[in-house]
Amino acid sequence: MQYRTYGKLGFKVSALGMGCMRLPRIIRGNEAIVDVERAFEMIRYAADHGVNYFDTAYGYHNKTSEAVLGEALEGERREKVTIVTKQPLGAMATQDDIRKNLENTLKKLRTSYIDVYLIHNIGKGIWEEIKQRKIIEEYEKFRAEGMIKAIGFSYHGQLPAFQEVLAYYDWGMCQIQQNLIDVKNEATEEAIHLAGKKGCALVIMEPLRGGSLATPPDAVQAIYNEYPVKRSGVEWAFRHVINYPEVSTILSGVSTLEQLKEDIEIFSKEDAVPGCLSKEEVSIIARVREKYLSLKSIPCTACEYCLPCPKGVNIPGIFGRYNDGVMFGSYDQPRRSYMFMSRGNSDASLCAACGACEKKCPQHIDIIDKLKTAHEALKGWIE
Ligand code: SF4
Ligand code: SF4
Repeated sequence: MQYRTYGKLGFKVSALGMGCMRLPRIIRGNEAIVDVERAFEMIRYAADHGVNYFDTAYGYHNKTSEAVLGEALEGERREKVTIVTKQPLGAMATQDDIRKNLENTLKKLRTSYIDVYLIHNIGKGIWEEIKQRKIIEEYEKFRAEGMIKAIGFSYHGQLPAFQEVLAYYDWGMCQIQQNLIDVKNEATEEAIHLAGKKGCALVIMEPLRGGSLATPPDAVQAIYNEYPVKRSGVEWAFRHVINYPEVSTILSGVSTLEQLKEDIEIFSKEDAVPGCLSKEEVSIIARVREKYLSLKSIPCTACEYCLPCPKGVNIPGIFGRYNDGVMFGSYDQPRRSYMFMSRGNSDASLCAACGACEKKCPQHIDIIDKLKTAHEALKGWIE
């Protein structure tokens, strides 16, 4: 296993981190529960084969992921690993809730401290409230009391708001989405350089875009096939993020032991280190990115000119998920993420067809009709 330094916090962390958002599941009717025995086996296998970084969150797997991780690591393994978990603003109805949620998390994780505690999923829409309610200051109290060792945030959104959040506080770490498709999407690769300059540990999530980059469509595979060294779609995608020197850990949300073993093998290679990509490999990845993007069905550029919608519909987010389904030939992962939009009251079913957004769209997208199409394709995930 390759190890890296965790920004100015200085932890030695495995370059591969195990994400606990996609643990193996058992579906029972309209309910899905974690397959605990298989999850234990995977978590313990990871901890015993060089992975010393585990990421979970208050809400993953209907609030059961933390408990599964805690039980799997209880005892000697816990002291050998870094545990990171997150609390979302949505769970912090009152200031008292912030402390109660952390206390509950510590019980679930069967530990007396969290290595890094994040404010979950900061974005432009909630940043003002986080500042106003002094949530970072609450976290500082927890650190002073020894309940957490460091404070960080996970982020989904565009670069300008990321810059603002990063500059606001002396964060121990930040976690952003990055993969070979998203170099210019979300916070973009510029966010990686900014975090690195600040000495903030940087953790990458969604390096495989929810697993979608693992199975390239024929048009993409044909590009990979031109290269003399044969690699899986998974390895190409991981190597894209391994290449950045600013990155401390790359999270993989594995669902099977086989996926975990494949990941460990890739991250244990001698050349799985920053700067691993040759010029030719960088150019192959750029062509792969263009090919994927050419498969998009709705020409939404995520410019957000159509927002805000009076009903709260997250128009670019919905189109992004729909396009992912078309691009990758599977709606599994987009459906899961759309389910969270439904819980957050921002899904397409809320559209009242007022037409305000269509007048503002520079791409002249028939948004109302396309939202209906996307909703039909994306609804129905069971969690
Ligand atoms: S048409 Fe629908 S999505 Fe567009 S602004 Fe009106 S309610 Fe929102
Ligand atoms: S204005 Fe059009 S292109 Fe821009 S985010 Fe909205 S739907 Fe997408």
